[in-house]
Amino acid sequence: MSDISRYGFDDEYQQLFDMVDRYARENLHELSAKMDDDDWFPKDEYAKLSQLGVLGITLPSELGGAGMDEAAQAMVAHALAKWNPSLSLSYLASDNLCANNLNRHGSDFLREKYLPGFCDGTILGALGMTEPGAGSDALGSMATRARRDGDNYILNGRKLWITNGPEADVVLVYAKTDPEAGNRGISAFLVETGFPGFGVDKKLDKMGYRGSPTGELVFEDCVVPAENLVGEENNGVRVMMSGLDLERALLAAHCVGICERALELSIDWAKNREQFGTAIGNQQLVQRMLAHMYTDTASARNFCYQIIRECEGLTDDQVGRGEIHMRTAASVLLAGGAINRVLDNGMQIHGGMGFMREIEINRLYRCAKILEIGAGTREIRELIVGGELVR
Ligand SMILES: Cc1cc2nc3c(=O)[nH]c(=O)nc-3n(C[C@H](O)[C@H](O)[C@H](O)COP(=O)(O)OP(=O)(O)OC[C@H]3O[C@@H](n4cnc5c(N)ncnc54)[C@H](O)[C@@H]3O)c2cc1C
Repeated sequence: MSDISRYGFDDEYQQLFDMVDRYARENLHELSAKMDDDDWFPKDEYAKLSQLGVLGITLPSELGGAGMDEAAQAMVAHALAKWNPSLSLSYLASDNLCANNLNRHGSDFLREKYLPGFCDGTILGALGMTEPGAGSDALGSMATRARRDGDNYILNGRKLWITNGPEADVVLVYAKTDPEAGNRGISAFLVETGFPGFGVDKKLDKMGYRGSPTGELVFEDCVVPAENLVGEENNGVRVMMSGLDLERALLAAHCVGICERALELSIDWAKNREQFGTAIGNQQLVQRMLAHMYTDTASARNFCYQIIRECEGLTDDQVGRGEIHMRTAASVLLAGGAINRVLDNGMQIHGGMGFMREIEINRLYRCAKILEIGAGTREIRELIVGGELVR
């Protein structure tokens, strides 16, 4: 188990981490293979996480949440990722990207209406920003439009590669309400997937993170009550930017969990696989790969939790720019590179067996690449860090 307390967190956090780690090892790990084979999302098992008190972990207790902070959420993502990366990714999309942003920016009406459902597992959330023509340039190229019509907004457009999209009950959607105003003309909406005009065009077939459903969403004259506007009209970029730094910090914790599991599996394999009359782990070239896996994992974990500590207590106007924006991007830049090197070495140690789809290291390997693409690609992370350094 990871010693979280070494990063200066209270016992309460270590106990939380240990509880989720144990639960995930005993109950969720065994689901991973079927989720991968059948691209099956176990919605009931996801909902059962509410019994651990980890759904809505950052939400206030009067709405059913645990009233903890994003550090606690990072630890849950870390522990879940170690045993079931797909469930961890879906957890982050719902509990962080959707619920956390709604809590920070939504009206009392929206918070009271929807957030209890996140906490008891009856609501699964998603976040819809990316579009077919708007990836890295998500804001500038955004084509989804929302126009006011009496007591409603009417949304038209498409959102692509949306985690949880095909199974979600609500989606936090960004759309242009004033297309001439650039970044100052974007608004955020909480869209129920039952609203007229909302549809899932297709569930997408992925190489990794199977079992965490990803979809293309379509809005065709989708009728969204005006009260489902999140934050102020034309102020969606504030909602987005304040959440993005935390998203990156938490995704780094998710990477750490997968790295730890890959290292465990590879040590075990190296000790037990024999060639030339001895365990391959006795070969110094194999030890070198393990040493690099360990070093990448430890450095990603250390930097990740250092940054998560730095995020503690930040208000919305302190994030999305400046040093914390740079450092959260650096944290996921490091973690995304680390996980790809760790899984490359882990596969190499497993030899031909690693190439078999049913082997756990193979499943983890197929997850690694997207961690240098989602939440801002490696290059976008580099641009943020490099740009800030020369500012
Ligand atoms: C499994 C999965 C889950 C996802 N989940 C979500 C989700 O829940 N919600 C959501 O909104 N989105 C989600 N995404 C979308 C994800 O955030 C985007 O894929 C990502 O932002 C990159 O956009 P893109 O794929 O269009 O790449 P592009 O922007 O087309 O980039 C392609 C390449 O060009 C490079 N590039 C682009 N611009 C520059 C530049 N200025 N300088 C240097 N290089 C550049 C990129 O770094 C990359 O290497 C998900 C994607 C996947 C695959």
